[in-house]
Amino acid sequence: MNEELRLTYNALQVEQTAQQVKEFFKDASIVTLTGSLGAGKTTLVAQILKQLGVAGPIVSPTFTYVNVYKLADGKVIYHFDLYRLDSLEAFEQAGFAEYLYQENSICFIEWPEIVMPLLTRSVCHLAIDFDSLDQRQLVAHCIK
Ligand code: ADP
Ligand code: MG
Repeated sequence: MNEELRLTYNALQVEQTAQQVKEFFKDASIVTLTGSLGAGKTTLVAQILKQLGVAGPIVSPTFTYVNVYKLADGKVIYHFDLYRLDSLEAFEQAGFAEYLYQENSICFIEWPEIVMPLLTRSVCHLAIDFDSLDQRQLVAHCIK
């Protein structure tokens, strides 16, 4: 069954938005984030990771493609930024396809367009848009 969540939030509401989004995607294996540069993708992922128990700084994987975090309970979190990767072939050649759908892991993927063909199940798509100067609009849509 597919579901949808829509909300508007400002910079002071990122924490509560992360909470709502986290409850919405529940146990999905993959969470994608689309939206233009500066929309707030990394800001939201960072807050979700903090709430999931990542200690210490969370930085954007802009130049490394992926950052990996291991939680105390053994769960592994992959945070991708595929802005600089130009094809699904390049993604697969880097060995990144093996990170998808691992047991006891979750992947957050910014700029997911090139890998969309691989994301057919247990995925939640988040789309963030500029609403006004200090507000963002988020639409979340999960596929079980
Ligand atoms: P992206 O990863 O989409 O390129 P970032 O999260 O790196 O975007 O940057 C977004 C910028 O917008 C940051 O300066 C952040 O403080 C700000 N921002 C994030 N979410 C909101 C929001 N809901 N309302 C207003 N500003 C926000
Ligand atoms: Mg980003």
